[in-house]
Amino acid sequence: MKVIDGKTKLTGLFGWPVGHTFSPLLHNSAFERLGLNYVYLPFAVQPESLAEAVESIRALNICGVNVTIPHKEKIMPYLDKVDEAARLIGAVNTVVNDNGRLIGYNTDGPGFAASLKDELSYSLAGKRMLLIGAGGAAKAVAVQSALSGLKELVIVNRNTDKARLLADSAAKTGCSVSVLDFAALNQDLMHKIDLVVDTSPVGMYPNVEAEPVIAPELLHSGLLVCDLVYNPEKTVLLKAAEKAGAVTWSGLGMLVQQGALAFQYWTGMAAPVEIMTKALKDYLYEKR
Ligand code: NAP
Repeated sequence: MKVIDGKTKLTGLFGWPVGHTFSPLLHNSAFERLGLNYVYLPFAVQPESLAEAVESIRALNICGVNVTIPHKEKIMPYLDKVDEAARLIGAVNTVVNDNGRLIGYNTDGPGFAASLKDELSYSLAGKRMLLIGAGGAAKAVAVQSALSGLKELVIVNRNTDKARLLADSAAKTGCSVSVLDFAALNQDLMHKIDLVVDTSPVGMYPNVEAEPVIAPELLHSGLLVCDLVYNPEKTVLLKAAEKAGAVTWSGLGMLVQQGALAFQYWTGMAAPVEIMTKALKDYLYEKR
């Protein structure tokens, strides 16, 4: 158990509810490994208390917080500055207290790009992406990928109005963006695609046997197939992709890297990514 003393620095998570979060495990294992006198706590912030909670970051001299559902969008007007990518995404998941000035970032998108680079030496520059979904995670992936030099983005989502809204945001970066129906996906199109990124929760524990959101026949060996779901590590989509000879990527790396970036903002130090990965893998895949 960590010893808290008069010099312990405070970080944490604002969300409602927060009981499901892995972030305390991620950050506290990293603080402990590097011998940093920091602690990360979950704060259950009810929607009507958000303004007071944000003010408490200054009042209690908290170094910074992560922000999760339902506060990611609503927190933005309370901050002193929101960085450009977070503004385009329309959501903040990390706040940094810079001597009383609160700055908002979104580390989900950069975490996605960093994980591809770290695990697969994969660059998004010049690539053509098929993005499945148009929710919060899809926004972060789309905007960051476009900012990272993606050549073309094709979005498919059940709700095409939501997909069009996302396309408008991503197109502001200069990337070529289009929206298609699921029914329009075919072999020809798929052979013009470099990577598929599934941001839907399909296949997530406990519904691990659900049909993949994209027909397995459309997958081929020239693809990188990414699933943002990290539990299970190998989803039904990734199993189908492996069978088709594609390279696969699981969302665990993004979860770690988005935390690693927040850690770096708060402490000014590089995060121990291997320690954070092991802590999560032990918890999610081994010890339960
Ligand atoms: P969200 O805002 O609720 O968006 C979910 C998206 O998935 C929507 O576009 C929705 O389509 C689509 N969808 C849901 N069920 C579907 C189904 N049965 N078939 C087809 N499409 C479906 O959720 P989110 O915050 O983006 O999170 C999505 C997933 O990403 C979750 O599993 C979450 O755990 C994961 N995630 C992972 C990381 C990471 O670090 N690895 C980070 C963030 C999120 P409609 O718009 O048509 O409803």
